[in-house]
Amino acid sequence: MRLLNVRAVLLLLAIGLLVVTIASSRVLRATPTEAQALREAAQNRTAYTLPPEKLKLAKELFRDRTVLHFASEGWGILQLVLLLVLGVPARMRDAAERVTKSRWGQCFVFVFLFLLLTTLLNAPLRLYGHHVSLVYGLSVQRWESWFADWGKSFLLTWLVAGVLVMVLFWVIRRSPKHWWFWFWIPTMIAVLFGIFVSPVLVDPLFNKFEPLQQRDPALVAQLERVVARSGVAMPPNRMFFMRASSKVTSMNAYVTGFGPSKRLVLWDTTIAAATHDELAGVFGHELGHYALHHIVRGLLFSAVFLLLGFFVGQRMTSWLVAKYGARWGIRSQSDWACLAVLVLGLNILNFISEPFENAVSRSMEHAADVYGQEAIHGIVADPQTTTQQGFQKLGENSLDDPTPHPWVDFWTDGHPSTASRAAFALAYNPWTAGQHPKYFQP
Ligand SMILES: [Zn+2]
Repeated sequence: MRLLNVRAVLLLLAIGLLVVTIASSRVLRATPTEAQALREAAQNRTAYTLPPEKLKLAKELFRDRTVLHFASEGWGILQLVLLLVLGVPARMRDAAERVTKSRWGQCFVFVFLFLLLTTLLNAPLRLYGHHVSLVYGLSVQRWESWFADWGKSFLLTWLVAGVLVMVLFWVIRRSPKHWWFWFWIPTMIAVLFGIFVSPVLVDPLFNKFEPLQQRDPALVAQLERVVARSGVAMPPNRMFFMRASSKVTSMNAYVTGFGPSKRLVLWDTTIAAATHDELAGVFGHELGHYALHHIVRGLLFSAVFLLLGFFVGQRMTSWLVAKYGARWGIRSQSDWACLAVLVLGLNILNFISEPFENAVSRSMEHAADVYGQEAIHGIVADPQTTTQQGFQKLGENSLDDPTPHPWVDFWTDGHPSTASRAAFALAYNPWTAGQHPKYFQP
């Protein structure tokens, strides 16, 4: 392990970035038809609008959410600094070492204490977040059920984090300088495994799923026409209906999993509010994520980001431990208490990388929008208006601000704004004379 050459890995990383960039260049490069529609859309301020009373609420909600978002991230960093200065992680390590001699035991005790304390410290903001959703009518989830979900996700996080931290510290002890690379491999395996099993094992813990075929066969027939046009393999038994209405009022649809666990999920709230034509448009967008290999691309991006993150994280941690270790009661990088330093580093990196990740996500979402609108051509009468009306409903339903603050939007939003998506939908018609579709044959 000691033979690992940092320069070689950085070279690998650069090649990785290059591959990812080339792989996504089709996503990033707009066709002339698309570019023209984007220019036209930028001038259109009326494709998505809200009545005055909803507009007022949407502005207030945007402000509340922005404050919550940045307060949570800032507090997530500050609380760790405070805990370290007060020597709390060192005391947790002492407690874990007193309880048991077994390393597995110590790891799970330490991770439990650490998670419990940070969960309690984050509780006020989390509670306020759910309160906001209830006040604006976006959530209808009762507090008992909300707390039950919170408890379930705590236990799940404890289990997964416990195993990963055990592996991490095993690697750190064997390769204190290059653990960032050696730990990256099991992390990627865990991420792949997580994406693979979560639709089957994790999601059903929080929501109820039923085959869409049983709930709405007419809708499935409509969606199969879109599937046939796309050439993607998405048989009806991969389409699911999710009972979201017991918790939220907002609309959503998503694709998840891969291989045998790959599936499309439509929320009952969406099915209740949208027409079959609009649902075909939503479905076309989701299918686009598959057709354009967005799950694989997303994975490649996270692989590169994680490797970079672990590399910088390792440098940061060894520097912090060398400088403040004695003051914080942390003996070395392989001390359980060092986990707090690592999480601090990763939280900081996460905040910095947020706008980059969102920019990547926005480019994929835009590509899926283009794909979806082209996919329903010939199936719905007017793809432009159908798609725009879908966005109007979606936005009005979740009280999306028609003119979000550009910097906040840039930093925090993984989708283009609803207003820009609706305007693009109206402007984009590759089936007129002289224009060319991007993903389908003319
Ligand atoms: Zn999407």
